[in-house]
Amino acid sequence: MKKPLIEVKNLTKYFPIKKGLLGRTVNHVKAVDGVSFTLYKGETLGLVGESGCGKSTTGRTLLQLLEPTSGEVIYEGTNLVGMKPSELRKHRRDLQIIFQDPYASLDPRLTVGDIIAEPLEIHQLYQGKEKEKRIDELLNVVGLNSYHAKRYAHEFSGGQRQRIGIARALALNPKLIVADEPVSALDVSIQSQVINLMQDLQEQFQLTYLFIAHDLSVVKHISDRVGVMYLGRMVELADKNELYANPLHPYTQALLSAVPSPNPLEKRERIVLQGDVPSPANPPQGCTFHPRCSACMDICRTERPAMHNIDGHYVACHLYK
Ligand code: ADP
Ligand code: MG
Repeated sequence: MKKPLIEVKNLTKYFPIKKGLLGRTVNHVKAVDGVSFTLYKGETLGLVGESGCGKSTTGRTLLQLLEPTSGEVIYEGTNLVGMKPSELRKHRRDLQIIFQDPYASLDPRLTVGDIIAEPLEIHQLYQGKEKEKRIDELLNVVGLNSYHAKRYAHEFSGGQRQRIGIARALALNPKLIVADEPVSALDVSIQSQVINLMQDLQEQFQLTYLFIAHDLSVVKHISDRVGVMYLGRMVELADKNELYANPLHPYTQALLSAVPSPNPLEKRERIVLQGDVPSPANPPQGCTFHPRCSACMDICRTERPAMHNIDGHYVACHLYK
């Protein structure tokens, strides 16, 4: 039996929209609107969806880098939401993040050694020679060299910078890494190198990943399970092979139809979605996907679909009542 590492229950994050001189709150952006899922120890959960659907906000509220509006994040039997900062500090080490843009996320004034040492210093771990040894070790673990510690991030290529970001995330021996589109800014040829590295590290250090990407082709290789988000909600979540072979939600079916098939003889009908993603400040009633859905029924316009569990394949769609 797989053991849960983190349970996310009904997580929401609403950003206020303020207007006028007094800064009155006139509305909210419902960036994350009732998302629930479990991360099991040692797995990679891929999280996909179009830009703006709330993937990053889900990752950041899960890590408590952003305060959730409501919901629970259960880690090691306790709820991280609303925890006192002093209590939360004890768990922070275990929960790390890798950012999308290795260009923007590394401080240009610091050497690579200083960047990697930062988390060690914040948590007052390793001093002097020990610290240098640890930096050295981390550089080697991500496929860089000891002498790179003295260089600056701008001297490195995109792929190498992402390795630096990974080394920094690993510095405190985390249990979970939220990888927020870690390869989206990289050339395709470099993407697979970084993904392979992440897989090696996962095995070596028994890491659990929440791996965020905007399309289904990137997460296919690395994920054990895949969740699909649309406008702040999880619409489908299943075992990877099951999801790619048998997508149930019309949105997932559309996303998958855009992924080139590895088999050129297999003709996949491209489903083109109508219209744009609606604003998360004014999401449609009922199922938020209904204005773009080819299978839309009356109930979809009024009633929010619950998450149905069909033999471990989760889908939030009225077609599967
Ligand atoms: P994704 O990572 O899937 O592209 P995000 O989680 O970044 O989506 O954003 C979800 C929605 O929340 C978007 O509409 C975005 O504009 C909005 N949003 C994200 N961060 C903030 C913020 N700090 N303040 C206001 N709105 C935000
Ligand atoms: Mg994002």
